[in-house]
Amino acid sequence: MKLKDLTFKKLLTADRIEKKVAALARQIEEDYQDKTPVFLPILNGSFMFASDLMKEINIPCRVSFVKISSYSGTVSTGQLKTLIGHDESLFGTDIIIVEDIVDTGLTLQKISDELKDLGAKSVECVALLRKQPAREKNIPIRYIGFELEHEFVVGYGLDYDGLGRNLRDVYSRVGE
Ligand code: 5GP
Repeated sequence: MKLKDLTFKKLLTADRIEKKVAALARQIEEDYQDKTPVFLPILNGSFMFASDLMKEINIPCRVSFVKISSYSGTVSTGQLKTLIGHDESLFGTDIIIVEDIVDTGLTLQKISDELKDLGAKSVECVALLRKQPAREKNIPIRYIGFELEHEFVVGYGLDYDGLGRNLRDVYSRVGE
């Protein structure tokens, strides 16, 4: 499979992903049966994972899609990232961040810190994919779908230069 200049091979089939998503939903339901969690999918990449996951969740819950805005701040150290799109009612809520993939874990850590500052009662994360750097750094992720090494992946919401988000399977780059 080709996207622009890169070649990809199938890594995870839609069928495997579907089974994993269902298993993750069962774990979450068990842990949150007495709560009403707020799922916070991080756009754009997690839209497909979040949609499938939400359809599997059979406990009362809320969903609020958010984005991360990156902008060059006034500080010389570079880029600042902040959450946009969430509403104020996150105070006192049990939040489950829905991430497509966690690589270094920096994005996740920033979001978690921001949510705790906003007064969330608890903050956990469900990630479909976790890469080796996050594993090495022990980034806390309560629910993990699949473990990867360093490979660049697309499909099931994940893109290469905007392409490939619509694919049902996950593909990894060939010849890295
Ligand atoms: P982190 O802050 O954990 O290093 O980066 C997380 C973000 O980087 C993900 O939400 C995703 O947008 C992007 N990312 C990391 N690895 C990949 C990958 O293999 N493929 C794609 N398409 N995006 C990735």
